[in-house]
Amino acid sequence: MAAMTSTARPLLNRRLAEFGTTIFAEMSALAAATGAINLGQGFPDTDGPEEIREAAVRALRDGRGNQYPPGPGVPELRTAIAAHQLRRYGLSYDPDTEVLVTAGATEAIAASLLALLEPGDEVVALEPYYDSYAASIALAGGRRVPVTLRPHEGSFRLDLDELRPAVTDRTRLLLINTPHNPTGTVLTRAELAAIAELAVERDLLVVTDEVYEHLVFDDAEHLPLAAFPGMRERTVTISSAGKTYSFTGWKVGWVTAAPALVSAVRSAKQFLTYVSSGPFQYAVAEALALPDSYYDGLRRSLRERRDILATGLAEAGFEVFRPAGTYFVTTDIRPLGEKDGFAFCRALPRRAGVVAIPNAVFYDDREAGAPFVRFAFCKKEDVLREAARRLRAM
Ligand SMILES: *Cc1c(COP(=O)(O)O)cnc(C)c1O
Repeated sequence: MAAMTSTARPLLNRRLAEFGTTIFAEMSALAAATGAINLGQGFPDTDGPEEIREAAVRALRDGRGNQYPPGPGVPELRTAIAAHQLRRYGLSYDPDTEVLVTAGATEAIAASLLALLEPGDEVVALEPYYDSYAASIALAGGRRVPVTLRPHEGSFRLDLDELRPAVTDRTRLLLINTPHNPTGTVLTRAELAAIAELAVERDLLVVTDEVYEHLVFDDAEHLPLAAFPGMRERTVTISSAGKTYSFTGWKVGWVTAAPALVSAVRSAKQFLTYVSSGPFQYAVAEALALPDSYYDGLRRSLRERRDILATGLAEAGFEVFRPAGTYFVTTDIRPLGEKDGFAFCRALPRRAGVVAIPNAVFYDDREAGAPFVRFAFCKKEDVLREAARRLRAM
């Protein structure tokens, strides 16, 4: 029970007032109350590699990281992050000046925006957007300017003719996310080249959230924006161990960028958490050195699970946007005679015993997002088969 204050002023400040409790809390409570299968929140129901879990235990037992680690992250991890960027993408970063370890990608995003924005600066972000973006932009006093990904021939695409006019004289940065949550879209080389050209032409900073960099399927390819011409010096690249290694609770994320950008982001980060996840940093350093076969296996396994869920959803009557990446499949509920994703998701646990998330929560333009509903497929195959069976029976 909140105490009464002596003034009539609301307790929550005006920057955060529009952000109530997240939908994930409401839907997870519904899942618990009804015993429904929770395909709402995107976390795996199986932990990552046993040897990486053991590496964390070893670090903890050996007393590595149990006390405050260095502010930028432990050297072993920064070196491993730089080696990963070089090996995968041919991008060379100095582990001492161009890599910063954060408390998950979430802190990296918040610290980047807090560091780089002045109040009133505009941020052009792809809509629908990951829920922390709007709140972090608001905390930094920025103004978000959404550019909406729209359904086109079976996937959600960026319309470059909508992106260009969204950039104004007040735009400070572009906030990009590829592979994209919640749509599963992986931006193509041509789309990324156009974003890069625009950023260079208008002299914009770019913050790019690439936490699903390894979770791409079929012939989709993840291309880091920082590798495009003119981007190395203006791009803050963010990733995290959570999704790549199936340890979302460890909250080990990182930033790679030019020294001046890393230094700016570190200025904000040092007063948020200062440091975090000490022993886990050593374990993630080992994870980053896993052979390609690990990533191939993860991709194959997730693709199979995507197909189980996507096929089940299509058979149940949803229009399915088969994702090229991420943990999520977005559907359109209109073929089921429904049009309001909120109402649909609130009823679904009792109606079918499955929990999903209405994509409208990821839109400023709730109307544009109304008919779309997101299901997570980072769950065991038999869980997904059972969810598909329940949805077909609905
Ligand atoms: C899960 C997720 C994050 C958060 O990553 P953490 O490392 O858990 O903080 C950031 N961005 C997107 C798009 C995500 O889906």
